Amino acid sequence: MKEYGYKKDFAEQKLMTSGYRIYTVMDVTMQTTLERMFADPATFAYGSAKEEDIPQAAMVICDYEGNVLALVGGRGEKTTSRGFNLATQAKRPFGSTIKPLSIYGPAFEKDLITWSTLMEDKPTLWKDKKDELAGNPPDYPNNYNHRFEENPMTIIDAIKVSKNTIPVQLCELMGPETVYEFMTTKLHFSNMVASAADIGSHSMALGGADTTLIDLTAAYQIFGNNGYYTSPKLYSQVLDAEGKVILDNTSSDTKQVLPADTAYVLNRALWQVVNGGGSGARAKLSQWETVGKTGTSDDRKDLLFAGCTPYYTAVIRYGHNDNTVISNSVEGSHIQAWKKVMEEILKGKNPATFDLDSSGVEQREYCTESGLLATSQCPAKLTGYYKKDFLPEYCSHENLSAPEEDDPFEDDPQPPSSSDPSPWDDDEDLGFE
Ligand SMILES: [Zn+2]
Repeated sequence: MKEYGYKKDFAEQKLMTSGYRIYTVMDVTMQTTLERMFADPATFAYGSAKEEDIPQAAMVICDYEGNVLALVGGRGEKTTSRGFNLATQAKRPFGSTIKPLSIYGPAFEKDLITWSTLMEDKPTLWKDKKDELAGNPPDYPNNYNHRFEENPMTIIDAIKVSKNTIPVQLCELMGPETVYEFMTTKLHFSNMVASAADIGSHSMALGGADTTLIDLTAAYQIFGNNGYYTSPKLYSQVLDAEGKVILDNTSSDTKQVLPADTAYVLNRALWQVVNGGGSGARAKLSQWETVGKTGTSDDRKDLLFAGCTPYYTAVIRYGHNDNTVISNSVEGSHIQAWKKVMEEILKGKNPATFDLDSSGVEQREYCTESGLLATSQCPAKLTGYYKKDFLPEYCSHENLSAPEEDDPFEDDPQPPSSSDPSPWDDDEDLGFE
């Protein structure tokens, strides 16, 4: 239709009757596996969740060249051909899977944050303009669990538990329009929001904006691929009955949309979400390093998990066709289903970790109290990943420590030096007390 200006009916008729040969990029084995698993209720069975509580589900698997290797747009037995497809046709919210793409990626790139930058876990905006005008305290956004940390928290902790407050603050710092620009021009999320008026922190930082599952799966390439993005591709060529190429889709538009150092730090951050006690722990695969991000849309109408392995990116979405709220009992089922499918898809592949360009990144210990590079004086330390050209300062814990006269260890006698032996003292200490 786009290439030749055909009307939809005419294009459909040509497709059905002209003897076209369509060369897809689908991996037939993978597609068969995905369809078999989505037809099997056991893939989605979960704890005490009732079968009827499990919503519709869709999943897309891409390689790191943007090829859509397998996709399925519904679970259970297939009942219609060319029916509504939740993977390709549905435009539904990103939920928190948007945060690493729209907020943390650009914020790390622009050096607004490091792995351990401390930020306040508190609302900074107003849901209703009237409350702002009335001088009421900010009330937006709330966190998923309706709780706020008392003390400032590190960026990595905010990512791990998917805080809403901190991405919204970062979105406001960068400007929602800048974020929108990055998402539409670099990551090709077209028609993400209905109008410019919708470009705000709810859509850009918290994932209220809509996307197709294919676009979302393709965007996650950047976290396992040194920041490179290729537009998703379903076919390579269409030939007519005489073998003439009528659509050529063989070339790719691969571009580096995040610098390698930023992409590496994000890969490690998303590793923490799955492997470091974060919200995606259930996705961890047995032999293939797994990184990713969970997502839930407003009122729990959509549950998502977007993940990367060294071989593929894959996103699963749960959502009822009538867009009703998903039962609490299902929470986590989608992540477990993602894992079951990926274990099956990767069977036979060599165990692997990500092989990324880490040359611009340093692994350093940080002080958990200050978020700055740790010194020997810091009471608690953790390891973080930092861009070499944007390391935090050293923590000043030693300067803050108690003055000398209050230091109980200061006046303790020094242990005898081995170069100054005192045999008499030793004799007197031979245990007569
Ligand atoms: Zn310290």
